[in-house]
Amino acid sequence: MSEHHIHPVPDSFKAHAAIDAERYRAMYQRSVEDPDGFWAEQADAFLTWDKKWDKVCESDLRKGEVAWFKGGKLNVSVNCVDRHLEQRADQVAIIWEGDDPSEDQMITYRELHTEVSRLGNLLRERGVKKGDRVCIYMPMIPEATYAMLACARLGAIHSVVFGGFSPDALKDRILDADCQVLITADEGVRGGKHIPLKNNADKAMNACPGVHTCLVVKRTGADVGWKEGRDIWYEQEVERQSDHCEPESMDAEDPLFILYTSGSTGKPKGVLHTSGGYLLQSAMTHKYVFDHQEGDVYWCTADVGWVTGHSYIVYGPLANGATTLMFEGVPTYPDASRCWQVVDKHMVNTFYTAPTAIRALMGAGDKWVTQTSRQSLKLLGTVGEPINPEAWEWYYRVVGESRCPIMDTWWQTETGAHMLTPLPGATDLKPGSATLPFFGVQPVLLDNEGHEIEGAGSGNLAIKAPWPSQIRTVYGDHQRCIDTYYSAYPGYYFTGDGARRDEDGYYWITGRVDDVLNVSGHRMGTAEVESALVLHPKVSEAAVVGYPHDIKGQGIYAYVTLMGGEEPSDALRKELIDLCVQEIGAIAKPDIIQWAPGLPKTRSGKIMRRILRKIAANELDNLGDTSTLADPAVVDDLIDNRANQ
Ligand code: ATP
Ligand code: MG
Repeated sequence: MSEHHIHPVPDSFKAHAAIDAERYRAMYQRSVEDPDGFWAEQADAFLTWDKKWDKVCESDLRKGEVAWFKGGKLNVSVNCVDRHLEQRADQVAIIWEGDDPSEDQMITYRELHTEVSRLGNLLRERGVKKGDRVCIYMPMIPEATYAMLACARLGAIHSVVFGGFSPDALKDRILDADCQVLITADEGVRGGKHIPLKNNADKAMNACPGVHTCLVVKRTGADVGWKEGRDIWYEQEVERQSDHCEPESMDAEDPLFILYTSGSTGKPKGVLHTSGGYLLQSAMTHKYVFDHQEGDVYWCTADVGWVTGHSYIVYGPLANGATTLMFEGVPTYPDASRCWQVVDKHMVNTFYTAPTAIRALMGAGDKWVTQTSRQSLKLLGTVGEPINPEAWEWYYRVVGESRCPIMDTWWQTETGAHMLTPLPGATDLKPGSATLPFFGVQPVLLDNEGHEIEGAGSGNLAIKAPWPSQIRTVYGDHQRCIDTYYSAYPGYYFTGDGARRDEDGYYWITGRVDDVLNVSGHRMGTAEVESALVLHPKVSEAAVVGYPHDIKGQGIYAYVTLMGGEEPSDALRKELIDLCVQEIGAIAKPDIIQWAPGLPKTRSGKIMRRILRKIAANELDNLGDTSTLADPAVVDDLIDNRANQ
């Protein structure tokens, strides 16, 4: 792939950021040479403990066993709320921006404390105690955050299920975690449409006799079904509760939450995170990766139903006493300018989103961006998929006016917090690269026999040593945890992703290992071919998979989405093939290009290549787990218009 620009650390960050290049190197070295000493210091600096730990880290990766700060006691909600009251009771903790641009709300730390305490008391009244599981199926409203923190206050384990999921998907997750309480709303509102959350929840609960209590927030006032005894109105019951709720002092290793993965590669896994290590790494990365400064307004566009929402809307920012923006709507409603209007309205300094949103906004055209000011922006972030260098440059140049560094953060539900990421005052940026490891993270590239690859090269991305926010188990199925992450390469945590390391030690995620292309014996990441395709000005998105090919073993099948207003043609097809040859080489020439008005994505916006692989191979009767697919109609359309081979 041709070399891309290097964007050096901007002078403004060089001078003011908490970590510069020299400090990064020194701290990183210390973090891997003396991890116990390093993490003990950080745990002291970032968190407030009721009692100090007996041991910093205990682990046996061969058995998938990891523990941090054992014997230490703390309460996560106290760390995110109570301890800030002395300094910042009247500071805004949450800026809520409604789906309708005329609706918003500011919640101070004092108000947050009241809300969390009252809800904690209500849950206690309904019998919720330490270790119980509570399912949260909510729109993006402040009550979703109150619910998470109220669970943390009692030591109950929350399982947030994205509000866009169907009754069936909700039912599976309630049963898997054996939740006894469900917190939901009458309806959600997104992009001007109402989503019948309570009615969905009713359908799910019909098959979940274990749920004895369902709290319902009134969001729209819609008529909803009601089961006396089980269902209660949130506002009505919360109002009469006391503002004091005694927090449960938890062991650092007591579970904080269960969260199901996106389902890009198969059936979702119920990832379990614990209290101390998770909170430490999410707080620390929020501080250093976004160079969070006093007074900053910070916006992560994720939904709280995903790990990004957990770590970077709720736990990380609130542990740091930040002002976090929570957005109910979608980036394209009422129009494609919405994100930048919200940035101007609330003077947002940090903006963190996903490549799927960036590509969609890029496809809509520059004018939606340039009609806004965006002068408050200092820093941009991306997460969720490899970002194509073309989309990176657009984000940098058009959105950030070449002023804001972009933090491309690679991590997973299972890693709990950032793992590979630049730091804005320390790291020169290369578009498309998640750059270097965060403190304490020891990435390695393994060949298929499990040998570590030295220097520049590509291979299977694994992590060699434990980190605090690491997955502790797959809920109720530790064997699945071992099988998925620890058995392919004994002694390592295996990520499932492939990566390349360049001469400067920078990491480039090449895609899922399961998706790697093997054309005439040459191995290639899907991300590399896709990035070549989206270089074309008429292409907004591309997904590449392999399919069985008589001569080459695997051929390259490319699904290509054009920019709004562009038409497919044979000439364009040829231009795209030439572009791949020019950027990567003849070996990367797509054999088949199918024009795709839409691509199958998970509800968190990631391309599901495993389904595209089935369509390419014409295995249409066995598409695998499609429960997390955002829009099944996209798949039908791709099947109907499948290219002839
Ligand atoms: P499942 O595990 O159920 O298949 P998933 O892997 O999509 O779903 P997540 O935990 O939400 O579930 O996503 C983590 C994955 O997202 C990573 O393994 C990686 O493939 C991809 N990813 C996340 N951030 C980045 C990034 N900055 N660059 C490249 N890929 C990324
Ligand atoms: Mg995964």
